Parts: sequence; C-alpha cells; structure tokens
Amino acid sequence: MKRVLGLAVAAFISVAISGSAFAQDQIIYVGNLINDAASGPSGPATIIVRDGKIAEINRGATSASADAQVIDLSSKTVMAGLIDLHVHLTGDPGGDFWRETTEPAEWGVVVGAKNALVTAKAGFTTVREAGSSQYSAFSLRRGTADGVIPGPRIIAAGPALAIVGGHGDVSGFTEDVNDLLTSGYACTGAVQCAEKVRKASRAGADIIKITATGGVLSQQGRGLEAQFTNEEMQSIATTAHSLGLKVMAHAHGARGIEAASRAGIDTIEHGTFADEAALKVMKANGTAMVPTLMAFKGVSEGLGKGIYTPVVEEKIRMTLNTVGKAVASAKRLGVPIVFGTDAGVFEHGRNAEELQLMVDAGLTPREAVASATTLAAKALDMENEIGRIAVGYSADLIAFDGNPLDDVTVLEKIDWVMVRGRIID
Ligand SMILES: [Zn+2]
Repeated sequence: MKRVLGLAVAAFISVAISGSAFAQDQIIYVGNLINDAASGPSGPATIIVRDGKIAEINRGATSASADAQVIDLSSKTVMAGLIDLHVHLTGDPGGDFWRETTEPAEWGVVVGAKNALVTAKAGFTTVREAGSSQYSAFSLRRGTADGVIPGPRIIAAGPALAIVGGHGDVSGFTEDVNDLLTSGYACTGAVQCAEKVRKASRAGADIIKITATGGVLSQQGRGLEAQFTNEEMQSIATTAHSLGLKVMAHAHGARGIEAASRAGIDTIEHGTFADEAALKVMKANGTAMVPTLMAFKGVSEGLGKGIYTPVVEEKIRMTLNTVGKAVASAKRLGVPIVFGTDAGVFEHGRNAEELQLMVDAGLTPREAVASATTLAAKALDMENEIGRIAVGYSADLIAFDGNPLDDVTVLEKIDWVMVRGRIID
C-alpha cells in the first residue's frame, strides 16, 4: 500500500513539475521573423512566450529577465508552424488491406504516437486527423494536448461515415468478416446518417469526415463518383452544423464533388476530377479544396511493385494524369485552396513536399505558404489562435534556413519546433 501511495505521490510531483515549466518565460531570439505569409520576412526579433502563448514580439534583440529560458534562433528564420488538414497519424503506408483483420484499433495509438512526433518535427504544429480506426485519434489528441507525448495539436474526426461497403466501410473480405470489421459508422438514409453524426459527436469528434465518393485505395472497381445520396449528405451537413461541427468530404468524381458542395459540406478532400461546373458550385457555396497532391505522388511511387491489388493499381493509374489540374482551375475560379496531404498514404514526415507540388500546380510560393498557415487556420475556425505569429496566439513556431516565400522547399528541412510553448525534441 505504501509503495502504491509513493508512486501516486511521485506521479503528482512529476505533473506539478511539468506544469510549472510554463511558469518560466521563454525568450526566443529570432534571426528573421515572418509574422505571416502576407507580410513576409521582417528581420531580427525577440518573441516572449508565456504559458504556451506568444506574450510579446519586439523588433531586434531585447534583453531577457534573469529567470527566462533563452532560446537562440538568431541565425534562423522563424514563422508560425504549418497546418496539415488531412493526415492519418494512426496508420502507415502499405497496400495490405487484410491487415485490418489482424491489427486492433489500440495499435493505432502506438503507431500514431510515433507519427505525431515525426509530423511535429517536420514543422507541422496542427493537423486534422481525417479518419482513424475507432477512437484511436481521440486518445492521441489528448496525449499531445496534455504533453504526455510530443506531437502537434490534433483536430480529430474519428471514424469516417461511409455507405455500406463503400469507400471507408469494409469490403474485400467474406461477408461474415466484413460484418465483424465494420466501424459502426456506415449509414443508409438521412435519419441513420444524422444519427451517426450525433454518435461521432458524442464520441468526441471535432469534425465529421465522410467518404462522399468512391476511393482509390479501397478494394472496389466501381468508379469514383458519388456514393451517398444528396439527401444523406444534406442530412449529415445540417446535423453536423447544428452541433457546431464542420464536415470534410473525401471526393474524387466531379458530380460527387458538386453534390457534396451543394449539400453544405465544408471542405472537399482530393477534388481530383473537379471540373468547371463543380468548382463554380464550390465557389458559390464557399467550399474549400484540400488537394492532397502528396497522396498521389506517394502511391505512384509504389506502382508496379506488387504493393497494391490489381483493382487499386488500375484506379491509381486512372487518376495520375489528372492530379493537380483541378488546383489551377480552382485558383482561377477563386475557390479557396487549403493545405492537406493524406500523410499515412505516404510516409509521415514528408508533408511539406506538398508545398512544391502546389507551386508546380500553379500557386505562388506565398499562396502555398498561406494555404498551410493562415488559410488552413481559417478553415478550422481557428484563425484567432494559430497560423501566424501574433500576440495572444498559441506559441506554435518553427525555425529553418532561407525564405519560403521565394522557395517553399526550404520548409522540407525544419531545425526547431515548438507546439503550444513546448519544444519538440
Ligand atoms: Zn485520407
């Protein structure tokens, strides 16, 4: 009993110590400060971080109080941490779809803890978890928020809503195995889909993820068009919004994208075959596009190696010629383009490679950087908390060499990261 009590006291003390780390000011000497993508580099500065937030920003190097923790980044560029609106931290890449039968949801937390660190070290201080097995992402979210494990702030969807046997539900096994593996989030009809939204909300979802159309990596050769009916998608969007939640929809086919936007979905993920008509509807409804170009780069690297089943290989080849074209059209038509990668489909930590793919697709470096900071923050309704360096904002900071507004690839090598005032190392 005494021993147990001793452990409890020790645990209490360690919590108290890690809590008191925030009592000390952190003073950061910055070589070249970028407040946000719009304003650009402004030279040397001093940032004072207090209780996980940016308390002061001063030009040049100002003196530190005696008890402050000094962080010398005077040879580095410092800007707000990057935001990835589409990751799957709880999974690693691979085509072995049968692994669903052998790996429990709890394993996702372990994989996720590893990937949370890798992702934060790559400069991503906030990520949106776009679908995980059961509630593994919710435990991860708590782990990084409480500082139990190092990683980014996590906005988590939990399991995705799908049609029965559609992309995001189970398929490719015998019927009895499909039944055993189902997440409990497949739905049919407006009423049942509304119920699943409420169930996800009750379980702790920050956002509702749906698979609005067929997908590339599921074991079906039925095309990439709409899977939910209009009534089902409207019900999902209305119910989610009534709970204060946004909806992100995986969507490839043009008519499926158009239908999702009309139904009130907030962001279209992938948007691969978005045509002029679909993009005009998105523009009219204020729907943003999350292109996830890295997903296609990642899977294309695995083609012809026996990683994917034949039906999946064919779908990958079908999409590759079109990838990126919708981004240029979206820009021309004024559709907001926000940063998201689908990390987990490719190796976590390569997220920043998406920036150059966006530039190749027609964005300026400044637009690409804004998409991963201020615009992504806005898509999360967190534009007053993250996405720029300003007083009162969360101390989510990254340091590196060079100017990403000239060359976005400098963000592929990040030297130092802070999330909510905690240094990631
Ligand atoms: Zn995804």
